[in-house]
Amino acid sequence: MDSYHIVAIGSGFATSFFLHGYLRAAPPGAKVLVLERGPLIRHADRIKRRLAPGPPGEAILGRAGDPGKEWIFSMGFGGSSNCWWGCTPRMMPNDLRLRSAYGVGRDWPVGYDALEDYYREAEEIMQVSGSAEAAPYPRSRPLPQPPHNFSDPDRLLKAKYPALFFNQPTARARVATGDRSPCCANSMCHLCPVDAKFTIENGFAELYRDPRVVLLSDAEALEIDIAAGTARGLRYRYQGREHQVAADLVLLGANAIFNPYLLLRSGMTDQALGRGLAEQLSTFVEVDLEGVENFQGSTSITGHGYMFYDGDHRRTRGACLVESWNAPYFRLDPDRWRETLSLKFIIEDLPQEGNRVTIDPSRPERPLAVFHGYSEYAQATLRRVPDLAAELLAGLPVERIHPPGKARATEGHVQCTVRMGTDPADSVVDAGLVSHRVRNLVVAGASAFPTVSPANPTLTLAALSLHAARRLAGSGSC
Ligand SMILES: Cc1cc2nc3c(=O)[nH]c(=O)nc-3n(C[C@H](O)[C@H](O)[C@H](O)COP(=O)(O)OP(=O)(O)OC[C@H]3O[C@@H](n4cnc5c(N)ncnc54)[C@H](O)[C@@H]3O)c2cc1C
Ligand code: SF4
Repeated sequence: MDSYHIVAIGSGFATSFFLHGYLRAAPPGAKVLVLERGPLIRHADRIKRRLAPGPPGEAILGRAGDPGKEWIFSMGFGGSSNCWWGCTPRMMPNDLRLRSAYGVGRDWPVGYDALEDYYREAEEIMQVSGSAEAAPYPRSRPLPQPPHNFSDPDRLLKAKYPALFFNQPTARARVATGDRSPCCANSMCHLCPVDAKFTIENGFAELYRDPRVVLLSDAEALEIDIAAGTARGLRYRYQGREHQVAADLVLLGANAIFNPYLLLRSGMTDQALGRGLAEQLSTFVEVDLEGVENFQGSTSITGHGYMFYDGDHRRTRGACLVESWNAPYFRLDPDRWRETLSLKFIIEDLPQEGNRVTIDPSRPERPLAVFHGYSEYAQATLRRVPDLAAELLAGLPVERIHPPGKARATEGHVQCTVRMGTDPADSVVDAGLVSHRVRNLVVAGASAFPTVSPANPTLTLAALSLHAARRLAGSGSC
């Protein structure tokens, strides 16, 4: 049987950032196998085939509970880096200490200060663009790329809220890098035609060319072999046949639906495993402007509003992050096509124990995502969105604020099903993403988040992967 130091499952952010951290300090003889269930499709082919993310088919995922709830992600080399939009805010310090600060949810076992270095490193790797002088959270160094241009409506919001409205930090390049073109604001980010956003393919090409790393695409991990509290390797399917491989360390980076599913398939029985399936709740508000035109920005989403995010309201209802969009849509009024603004209100949810991932009892070859609804905590803020929009825009040249659209069926931000914590009774992994019960099993990705900040999750999950790799290297376990 082949044997590797690390066998990794999935080739998205969670795995790739961990391996980046690991390989930096690993010896020349280190052996890493990466199994990716989906195909390897290069950027140019993705464009030719016009690949777009959509809800997974019946063979991949079963759904139960709220029939309107969807989950989307992309399967293949690079995971959802191929279809993500590259919005990269950090979390706020209080996001990681929600219970201490506001008496709800949970505290994370790792605090903001401990993550700061890793946030910086992840921002460097993704070449994040954003304002040099201002951020809503502490930041020890300016972002590596300058900010994108604001639109004119953004400038008005910045003048009204100088300390609460910012250029959105983003992995959509402001200036060209060796591997990426500058973003040209055509707002097709799920399939960026000019390869401006960070992806695993353009950002980690070196990692997957490293002679210590073997990548198998179209290779599906079926079950981790766990005995006496140790992961010994795993079973996977490749080219129509089943194979067995031995590993010193198993790294699971298959996202918050497949991470718990694979652990359940592998016989893990932690009480909290699979529970808390969650993501943010969001809706758009369209605004007719009065004599102000939009779309001068240099990327798809230009502004970030923190006026409804942190504060005492979080004792009873969720934080809300506002995005201002510079996407090319129009107002259907002749001569006023550009006097319009689209705002997205993104709301924190509290994970509910009844929302969960299980093995589908009728089709055990796929996970079942059971979702009964968002928390009252999130819905209370959703109901207030018309008031929040009115407050945000008061005093600005606005002709009409349209009622919010229907809450969106998904943000594409699946989280919280293998939560991190200090107590094995209510969490599955520790602050270093290591399973409480199987000490050579790392479960990376947003599945480890104990709570759901309104901030997009990927920069934080990348920072957690770098943090986990450093901790393991420090402990001598890998
Ligand atoms: C349309 C869209 C837009 C988004 N925009 C943003 C954004 O702007 N900002 C942000 O922060 N986040 C965004 N996200 C979310 C972001 O893409 C995810 O947070 C991120 O991709 C998660 O990374 P991951 O590595 O944990 O999982 P994934 O990217 O989902 O990668 C997991 C990989 O594991 C593979 N896998 C699964 N099961 C197996 C198995 N059994 N064997 C082998 N391989 C397996 C999958 O095929 C997949 O390739 C967006 C998501 C979508 C869908
Ligand atoms: S706005 Fe356009 S160029 Fe920029 S990342 Fe999105 S698709 Fe690419």
